[in-house]
Amino acid sequence: MVKSVKKSVSAVEALYGTDVFSLKVMKEMLSKKAYDSLSKTINDGGALDPAIADEVAKAMKQWAVSKGATHFCHWFQPLTGSTAEKHDSFISPDGQGGVTMEFSGKELIQGEPDASSFPSGGLRATSEARGYTAWDPTSPAFIKQGEDGATLCIPTVFCGYHGEALDKKTPLLRSTAALAKQMDRVGQLFGVKSVTKAYATLGPEEEYFLIDKSFYVRRLDLVQTGRTLFGCKPARHQQMEDHYFGAIRPRIMAFMEDLDQALWKLAMPSKTRHNEVSPAQFEIAPIYERLNLAVDHNLICMELMRQIADKHGLACLLHEKPFAGVNGSGKHNNWSVVGPDGKNWLHPGSNPHENAKFLFTLCAIIRAVDLHADLLRASVASPGNDHRLGANEAPPAIISMFLGDQLTDIVEQLEKGEPKSAKSGGTIQIGVDVIPTLPRDATDRNRTSPFAFTGNKFEFRAVGSNMSPAAANVVLNTIVAEAFDEMAAQLEADLKAKKDFNKSLQAILQAIIKKHKRVIYNGDNYTEEWHKEAEKRGLPNMKTTPEALKAYESEKAIKLFEKYAVLTKKELLSRYEIYMHNYKSVLSYEAACAKTIAETQILPVALEYQATLATTVKSVADVGAKAKTAKEVLDKVSVLVDELSAGIASLEAALEAHSADQMKEAMVETRKAADALEGLVPANLWPLPTYAQMLFLY
Ligand code: ADP
Ligand code: MG
Repeated sequence: MVKSVKKSVSAVEALYGTDVFSLKVMKEMLSKKAYDSLSKTINDGGALDPAIADEVAKAMKQWAVSKGATHFCHWFQPLTGSTAEKHDSFISPDGQGGVTMEFSGKELIQGEPDASSFPSGGLRATSEARGYTAWDPTSPAFIKQGEDGATLCIPTVFCGYHGEALDKKTPLLRSTAALAKQMDRVGQLFGVKSVTKAYATLGPEEEYFLIDKSFYVRRLDLVQTGRTLFGCKPARHQQMEDHYFGAIRPRIMAFMEDLDQALWKLAMPSKTRHNEVSPAQFEIAPIYERLNLAVDHNLICMELMRQIADKHGLACLLHEKPFAGVNGSGKHNNWSVVGPDGKNWLHPGSNPHENAKFLFTLCAIIRAVDLHADLLRASVASPGNDHRLGANEAPPAIISMFLGDQLTDIVEQLEKGEPKSAKSGGTIQIGVDVIPTLPRDATDRNRTSPFAFTGNKFEFRAVGSNMSPAAANVVLNTIVAEAFDEMAAQLEADLKAKKDFNKSLQAILQAIIKKHKRVIYNGDNYTEEWHKEAEKRGLPNMKTTPEALKAYESEKAIKLFEKYAVLTKKELLSRYEIYMHNYKSVLSYEAACAKTIAETQILPVALEYQATLATTVKSVADVGAKAKTAKEVLDKVSVLVDELSAGIASLEAALEAHSADQMKEAMVETRKAADALEGLVPANLWPLPTYAQMLFLY
């Protein structure tokens, strides 16, 4: 044992959570009655008791003002893809030329931002422009530090006049409640001792790029669209695989250190940092937390990454595919469920009872993923992610599950196992046999799977780096709630009919495995072979966002989300509208930006070079020499200039036709000519920073 001379508090411990109105602060500042009520709300979910709102608001303001806050804001997550905030200062004129700092319970509980400019997908008439924001006490208020002042941020849900969800947080909270309800029920069937409300956990690993800001500002495509629309793959990129886990350069370390400090201040448990596969690519991962909080933290983290990069003269790119030809960025959604017993139900446990609960949970997830693979796919659909899913470095658009050899073997044994048979010949009898300890699968193969079991959690890898993790987890929670619901109902009916618990359980799990095992695949998901096999198995393969989003419109989805009170039909369909609109908008601005760059930056330079070559050919001929090479290059450049010009015309036509498919094709056509020109035009004339510069010089 280490003997410490005197108890010392490290800088990190002293810093951690200082900008959060945490339970600890609340305990110090609130009356016992208010504190008990609030901490119960935080644990169980739900709204703040209005009776204590004024007291909480007063404490919160006092605390925030002591941290330098001058303003407060309701911080929410509209369907725009980013977060939103409207600031109000605490000041209230005192009638004598001065002010006092005021903040009421009413202001804490509810805000009324004008919501008319947020997407509602037709949910809201303009006459009902008001939206409401309401504090979600399960996510604590925090301070955003500015250059010269600070703002108290109150995480809120955002809904319309009639309570319709206009944000990503509302369905997330509803889906968590639906899941908790079913887990409580399953917990009762398993006779677990209830110590908490059930909840889901999330640890999102975030991949990102950092490039020098001086390059960034000279790339209109990055500034406007977040990804490069042009650029040749450089001679050296990621083929040496030397960047992954490589030594972190000092400048990047400075960024990472700054970021960690900022995150720790907000009590976000940032844990892991490392270089990723592509040059200039990195990853950050926190320790997992309760789902709702983890989502908020992920959104704050993304915002801080951009800000802090800027401070270091860097640009942080969170786009799913900023550079063609090298790895894109994902967000690995590590998800699990904690039951009313306070235990992780995806932890296999070491006795038959724990094992049974684990296998029940596992089978619920197998059923859920197979039945609703289309919804999982829809939840990660975005134009940015379309470039990544299915490329050979990210999970394909086909949703399958990786269980690893040992767990697959267990599942197969369970499928074969006769309830009455003794433990022989590789069968598993629930309630009797102990399943062996599962290793955390350390093989490489699971890296290619979109949905992999990794020891005590599932890792959904198809989520894009730039998206909120909310949608994916809304789907996960809801489909698993449904599976628990149906399985619990069967079990309850069997028990009522005086059937044996373990036998009933075994039969239920066997039936699920038989029916849904097609979704399990442990092989390499990148291969052509798997694509063929998946087709044979009847697994959906939605390659593009519009195809994938269709799942949100289906009767199956409407029924599911309505049944578990996660989204009404109107809310769901409005989301479909908004996401489709977003898709088209992104493609239009990408196409328009490609046209601008091609027309105003690349074409002029190519024409200039063409003219220089023509002059060379002419003047060489004038003196009677042969201008063979100049002539050859001129021919090549001339062909490419015409191709580029044709590409620009295609872009124009596609934009006029408002056709997303045409825009995609035209962008590919234009890029092909432009990238070929990049290989011919003198480097000192080329108007855009190159891939080699952006990926290696930072
Ligand atoms: P890797 O997947 O890269 O091998 P780890 O498995 O250590 O790394 O963790 C990846 C992420 O999964 C981390 O954010 C970690 O906190 C999170 N995680 C671990 N256990 C759980 C759990 N039970 N629920 C949700 N996330 C978890
Ligand atoms: Mg991982």
